[in-house]
Amino acid sequence: MRRVYLDHSATTPVCPEVAEEMYKYITGNYGNPTSVHYYGRQVRNAVEEAREKVAASIGANAKEIVFTSGGTESDNMAVHGIVYTNKNKGNHIITSAVEHHAVLNMVQALEKEGFDITVLPVDQYGMVNPEDVRNAITGNTILVSIMHANNEIGTIQPVEEISKITREHGIPFHIDAVQSFGKIPVNVDDLGADLLTISGHKVYAPKGIGALYVRKGTRWKQTLFHGGAQERLRRAGTENVPGIIAMGKACELAVADLQEESDHLRKLRDAVIEKVLNKIEHVRLTGHPAERIPGHASFCFEFIEGESMLLSLDMKGIAASSGSACTSGSLEPSHVLLATGIPHEVAHGSIRTSFGKDNTLDDVEYFVETMQSIVERLRSMSPIDQDFDSTCASCKEGKSCHA
Ligand SMILES: *Cc1c(COP(=O)(O)O)cnc(C)c1O
Repeated sequence: MRRVYLDHSATTPVCPEVAEEMYKYITGNYGNPTSVHYYGRQVRNAVEEAREKVAASIGANAKEIVFTSGGTESDNMAVHGIVYTNKNKGNHIITSAVEHHAVLNMVQALEKEGFDITVLPVDQYGMVNPEDVRNAITGNTILVSIMHANNEIGTIQPVEEISKITREHGIPFHIDAVQSFGKIPVNVDDLGADLLTISGHKVYAPKGIGALYVRKGTRWKQTLFHGGAQERLRRAGTENVPGIIAMGKACELAVADLQEESDHLRKLRDAVIEKVLNKIEHVRLTGHPAERIPGHASFCFEFIEGESMLLSLDMKGIAASSGSACTSGSLEPSHVLLATGIPHEVAHGSIRTSFGKDNTLDDVEYFVETMQSIVERLRSMSPIDQDFDSTCASCKEGKSCHA
């Protein structure tokens, strides 16, 4: 069966150059980087070279990079570390309604501990208004955490403008750049990040490795892990050496190939959006039409369930995802789609396609053709569809009014 992987926002395959580099540190160089002997030193040097590469890829200094187990840990450490280090100054945290759960659930946990949380709303495209950040800031605000690009709807946030505001007030700004890194330029100075999260497995390195950038001079201490003095006391535990080596290589490649990669992904994204919107009825693009990451196209197909579409796509060898993927088994639609004002019943029909290096325009064609027939079949089975009246304004807006 033809297989087409269109779920790169969930994870990417490890690319051969990365695997090859990493392999040496799985089979050969097994020393503990903390050890003083030859085995340890050899590995220590490789870890520091990888750190340099990761730092260079985001315009940072190697000393500002902490290796973690991935995006979730980096987000958790950034938020927890800032608020616990600065809790003598205040207890207020500002974030947005469309953040990844690694940030949202962390701030919710902190709310139970007595921190005061502002979750900013977004517009219909999932975008935060920088003025809302300004208006939310109080004398007690100790952290602003807003993502660079959204995983579900691809929207790129105006983080440069937000950082100007946080700078004026001297408040640390954390950016989750997991989805933007490798697709658009991510430079910590240009973005104005004080802390920034990236994850290996979203950029062709393996799962279980990530990095947190912490700007020099930021009042931040690691507050979650208790143990050894690794990572200059910023992340206890023996380093994931093969992962770190892989991360270094993947970051190096991500930057070297950025222009080519983003042109390619932009072409596929624009093609799939154009074809889906033109060839299929009652479908809307979710997220921003222009300010979205290359390779990312997300939709809501009205009157159908995302889960049924995913299963049908899977039977045709196509791997995509739906907005509610993270909470499988739950009937709640995605918090991101709901935050953009999409009605519950429409949000249930969400499908996300996210393209990668190896996808082609032919894959776009195959996806659209397959989707056309799936939509036709599922809608013919859907009772709501039979009530659809194309002359009714509410029906057209997807309100399923059964007119
Ligand atoms: C995938 C993702 C994460 C979590 O990263 P892991 O390495 O899987 O823990 C965090 N934020 C965003 C935006 C993501 O897409």
